[in-house]
Amino acid sequence: MHYADIIVDISHENLDKSYQYSIPEEFREEAIIGALVIVPFGKGNRFIKGYIVDISETAKWKVELIKPIHQIVPNGLVIESQLISLAYWIKETFGATMNDALKTVIPVKKSVKSIEKKTIRLAISAEEAGNYLEVFKKKNNKGRVRLLEAFFSDSDEQPQAIEELDYELAVNKLNIARTTIQDLEKIGIITTKVERLYRNPLSNRETEYESILLSKEQKFIADEIIRDYKAGFRKTYLIHGVTGSGKTEVYLEIISSVIKQGKKVIMLIPEIALTYQTVMRFYKRFGSRISIMNSRLSQGERYDQFMRAKNGDIDIMIGPRSALFTPFKDLGLIIMDEEHESSYKSENPPKYHAREVAIKRGELSGASIILGSATPSLESYKKALQGEYKLFTLPSRNGEGRMPKIWIEDLREELKKKNKSIFSLHLKELIQDRLNKKEQIILFINRRGYAGFVSCRSCGFVMKCPHCDVSLTAHNNGTLICHYCGHEESMPSKCPSCGSKYIAAFGTGTQKVEEMVKKEFPEARVLRMDTDTTKTKDGHEKILSAFANQEADILVGTQMIVKGHDFPMVTLVGILAADLSLYASDYRAAERTYQLLVQAAGRAGRGRLPGEVVIQTYQPEHYSISAASNNDYDGFYKQEMNYRDLLKYPPAAHILAILIASKDENKAIFAAKLLGGAAKEWAETEQITEDTIIIGPAAAVLSKANDIYRYMIYVKQSDYKYLILLKNYLEGYINFSEHFEMCNVQFDFNPMNS
Ligand code: ADP
Ligand code: ZN
Ligand code: ZN
Repeated sequence: MHYADIIVDISHENLDKSYQYSIPEEFREEAIIGALVIVPFGKGNRFIKGYIVDISETAKWKVELIKPIHQIVPNGLVIESQLISLAYWIKETFGATMNDALKTVIPVKKSVKSIEKKTIRLAISAEEAGNYLEVFKKKNNKGRVRLLEAFFSDSDEQPQAIEELDYELAVNKLNIARTTIQDLEKIGIITTKVERLYRNPLSNRETEYESILLSKEQKFIADEIIRDYKAGFRKTYLIHGVTGSGKTEVYLEIISSVIKQGKKVIMLIPEIALTYQTVMRFYKRFGSRISIMNSRLSQGERYDQFMRAKNGDIDIMIGPRSALFTPFKDLGLIIMDEEHESSYKSENPPKYHAREVAIKRGELSGASIILGSATPSLESYKKALQGEYKLFTLPSRNGEGRMPKIWIEDLREELKKKNKSIFSLHLKELIQDRLNKKEQIILFINRRGYAGFVSCRSCGFVMKCPHCDVSLTAHNNGTLICHYCGHEESMPSKCPSCGSKYIAAFGTGTQKVEEMVKKEFPEARVLRMDTDTTKTKDGHEKILSAFANQEADILVGTQMIVKGHDFPMVTLVGILAADLSLYASDYRAAERTYQLLVQAAGRAGRGRLPGEVVIQTYQPEHYSISAASNNDYDGFYKQEMNYRDLLKYPPAAHILAILIASKDENKAIFAAKLLGGAAKEWAETEQITEDTIIIGPAAAVLSKANDIYRYMIYVKQSDYKYLILLKNYLEGYINFSEHFEMCNVQFDFNPMNS
């Protein structure tokens, strides 16, 4: 016998509440995950609708108590069904629970106060209303008189009734009792109506759209994709276009064609690049047929946007990862801009990658997928080279911009020249030149805070957080802060270890750079953008627009400033310490460095004026730095792929990361060793030891956070399917063992940050 878990109310917050029903033999074929069914429910066994979210062969209750499914609704595979199937796929592919997967995929209606608009209209002609008005005046029914008078404009000409009155306004401003309104409605003089208003985060913006003539290269790509689309082919495309090559213009052209064919579009953009400027490019072209999703919208606003999509009120949803689950019924296209961005991978369960989910959703709903980037992920580029994705390239800038000239400055040489400033002599010279010409400058630093860690010059002692195994960061006001748990303490005057007074903050952060700029270039107006200055709701947007309006000459910032912003007056980008991200301890460090450098360099020379970029580094010979300075993606790809092939890192193989965490360090170590052993035995039974590499257990890079000890096991395998089997096996193992009671075990497939 087969049993189905069924949810009966998907608009409800409580998605994890499913009910088990048995599947009668006659329905076995149609009873698939996502199917819309009718089941008897509650004491009275009234029939209600539900969706199958899981199927199993084991009964959770006494078999006699399980009711059978009454009916499978024919052709019942509506949008919810599709999203439920997608949730199931996410659960299977990324190792999540069905509850977590469902909550990610189905827009949940939180009990937020809905916004309603209640209006009053005349149910009779203006003339009749005028007659009633006279009657009420005679009877001295003041409330009724005020209400009817409100329908007429002030002029004493022929009564000209206005169409509708706002209910609340009538009650509050005109001081009309609710009972008066009720009475008139009963008599049949007026009617009231309630409309649910969906909040629109973009309402009342003016639109004006200047059409751009696509270049030959741009047009070629747009035409090919549109032709495929019209011919009914659904594919995955990768557009590799240098920064400012006009990828967005290509997207706009294709979107326009897709929506003309009655289909809907999801446009994914990393949250940090989802600025006013970007949204307006879409708004100007498509007006109020677009909506946006971002973390600043309230729960209610997000829900409303999803409902507008479901009701067909919009054609395009723009947003980060979560926009992927917009319940469009006729989805035709998903575009994923900056597809290499690590924010497309969810860090919380379900730990899915939006790229793969997008491709799956495309498959379920017959949509094409376009991935775009100036620095494609190795994963996507490999697939494109193998022909799994169709590859297009835009090798040069379109529009006014030219690719900038890139200089590499070796910081070791600066020391020899006795230059102790954080700016190389060449960079100083160029900054001064731009300040003289009133052009703008971006200074990019790969870190945040006033300075890096605090250490003792005499004994080397480093100030660490007592709860987390990370160094504390010094801030201006003399406090040391842990960016993992928020722990704060004050800067010690003496080394806690040896008592020396030579304890100080080292490294360079954004605040320090800002200070140095002010010291060396007192005439410059400086803006700083990092996690500290963008804490407020619109902090991010305010700094960007101030810089765009040329209220500052120099913008100093972290990662945040390099993503997709377009400042035509920026003609110089200084990358102060290009190699900092190379010291990160994960296998993606070189890739991330390459991406950051290319994206940062891409901010220069986007307008009419030519741009220059200065990359300062201690490792000018490193391939990620030299390739970035030559804009040589293919060269970088070959080198990096060699390294991944050699060490079996993705995309050469797949990795399952297993985190074992516990407050009790010994328990964590013990459990981790057990799991490592179980994994090894499993590989032996499956006879795949040759192709399976098990690393660890070992302390995680972040080996302790919030007083919780963290150990890791990594398993590499070229066949993804085996890693899923392993995860299922280990979960079973954990359930049967008593050694995991104090431990939390998490699985992450192909993690982005370790
Ligand atoms: P990307 O998305 O690749 O970074 P954009 O689409 O933002 O590039 O284009 C960069 C700049 O060039 C924008 O200001 C855009 O309006 C302009 N641009 C792009 N294509 C053309 C074109 N064919 N003609 C004129 N300007 C263009
Ligand atoms: Zn010391
Ligand atoms: Zn801490």
